[in-house]
Amino acid sequence: MSPSRRDFIRFVVAGSVAAGCPIDAALLAASDAKPGGAPLVHGERFAVCHQIRDGHRFESPEATRTAGIVIVGGGVAGLSAAYFLRGKDWLLLEKEDHFGGNAYQEEFDGQPYGTGSAYAERGDYGDQLASAIGLHLPFVNSPDPTIVNKTFVPDSWKTGLDQLPYPNGVRESFKKFRDDMRKINVRGKMAELDSQPFTNFTGAYAPEVQQWWDGFGPSNWGATAEDTSALVGVANVQYLLSGGDSKRVILPGGLGSLTHKLVKVLQPKYKDRMLDNAAVVAVVQEKDSVRVTYLHAGKPMTVTAKLVLMCTPKHITSRIVMGLPYEQKAAMRRIRYAPYPVVNIIFDKPVYNRGYDNWCPGNTFTDFIVADWTVQKNPGYKQKHNILSFYTPLRENQRATLLEEQDCKSLAARVLVDFQKLMPELNVDPVEVRIYRRGHPMFMAVPGQYTKNRLIAAHPMDRIFFGNSDSGGPESLTSEAVRLSKAGSEWAELLLAGKPGARDLAEKALLAIPE
Ligand SMILES: Cc1cc2nc3c(=O)[nH]c(=O)nc-3n(C[C@H](O)[C@H](O)[C@H](O)COP(=O)(O)OP(=O)(O)OC[C@H]3O[C@@H](n4cnc5c(N)ncnc54)[C@H](O)[C@@H]3O)c2cc1C
Repeated sequence: MSPSRRDFIRFVVAGSVAAGCPIDAALLAASDAKPGGAPLVHGERFAVCHQIRDGHRFESPEATRTAGIVIVGGGVAGLSAAYFLRGKDWLLLEKEDHFGGNAYQEEFDGQPYGTGSAYAERGDYGDQLASAIGLHLPFVNSPDPTIVNKTFVPDSWKTGLDQLPYPNGVRESFKKFRDDMRKINVRGKMAELDSQPFTNFTGAYAPEVQQWWDGFGPSNWGATAEDTSALVGVANVQYLLSGGDSKRVILPGGLGSLTHKLVKVLQPKYKDRMLDNAAVVAVVQEKDSVRVTYLHAGKPMTVTAKLVLMCTPKHITSRIVMGLPYEQKAAMRRIRYAPYPVVNIIFDKPVYNRGYDNWCPGNTFTDFIVADWTVQKNPGYKQKHNILSFYTPLRENQRATLLEEQDCKSLAARVLVDFQKLMPELNVDPVEVRIYRRGHPMFMAVPGQYTKNRLIAAHPMDRIFFGNSDSGGPESLTSEAVRLSKAGSEWAELLLAGKPGARDLAEKALLAIPE
């Protein structure tokens, strides 16, 4: 890209290395300066998390507040738990200055777009919750295209297989892979499949087959075929072949539209129970209560709760919950997370509106989504800006890229250049490029995580329930975060009412396998 062209674009490095405790805080100091188009950097407050990681002991003052249930973490899991527990005495603590976690929407000139979680499926727990709070998620209604070798291939895994711009032998290899994967009985062989890498199933075909999945995997579950559980890989092949993707529903903003609405629904009634800027530093289960210490705007505070729902990812949970059994703490720490920035590129005219989620093997990004896809056909709708969200998952050893503002800008620039080279008509300059960086947002669906490790990591304590999407699976899903929060709220209600069955209910929820 020429310097003049680069100057033309306003790069905005917005967002955070979310949940990014195990990295150097000093490099992430937030700066809001943006005079004259200089980059705007929004950063999470990592100092506290890093201190926790480094073993710092925070002062734990006398409790000044009590609550029936403390919910730690205000992503979709924490917000939905608060929603399910309306009417009960809860307190929600979120370390950021906003709620939403990895399902968080931003706006450009009033137009919402996603910075993380993209879509739900009709009837899943996220969609059910959306309906309950008055949010109708329209169907995507578009099979995924692939753009490769400057060719647009509609419906990648159905009619598209005959149109892939590869030599005939490669196309035949794609079809053989499709036919072989179809025959596998996934439900009947869950444990066996989950004990091996997906490469055991992709290795026998043309390299282009694995290359396709080396994009789809990191985008959807944080891992290339080599690091993917064959259970997740094969199940996803069958999902695409059987048209499972036709159930996708969403609004502009991705599933950030859901958390945005949850906040709108909860805040008018429960504002004083929803604390942002409240980083929890210690959760200590005692005989009849749990002490939760948090830094609220920097000041240590303690609340005594009867019960706690932990809705933070396990790499953080393992560091703030005291007294975890050794095996459980080890299982939490074994969970691997992918660094995962999302680049939003904003055009002031229509540039690309041919497909919703577009797969682009061999580029800096894996796929990109048209932000307003599901509302484009609404009567009277006029697309003001064409906002495209580029999914740019990184390998674990590339996490440091996110520490430096300059590296983030270079990454965003590479995303733009790669997009502009996809097809000649896409060589258009945007009005703005934004990158939302997150260090550990998506747990990786590695072999053993779903059928083994997760069950040890998420086992409830007497008074502490372990929610968050990383308690579920097989991949990181908003619907799983919501499902487990529903179970967590029922677990809490049983315990508060002194009724039996709470532990069984929690264990059943962990063992339940999503359709
Ligand atoms: C790029 C991307 C695309 C995705 N696409 C999809 C998709 O299309 N469909 C889908 O279903 N899922 C998708 N996912 C996964 C989905 O986003 C997650 O599964 C879901 O958002 C997790 O929600 P959660 O509440 O469990 O966890 P989180 O979102 O991680 O929320 C945890 C919250 O806890 C807060 N927190 C952390 N530490 C502390 C502390 N010490 N004290 C207080 N608060 C703390 C965090 O700030 C955060 O708000 C995607 C994820 C990413 C990153």
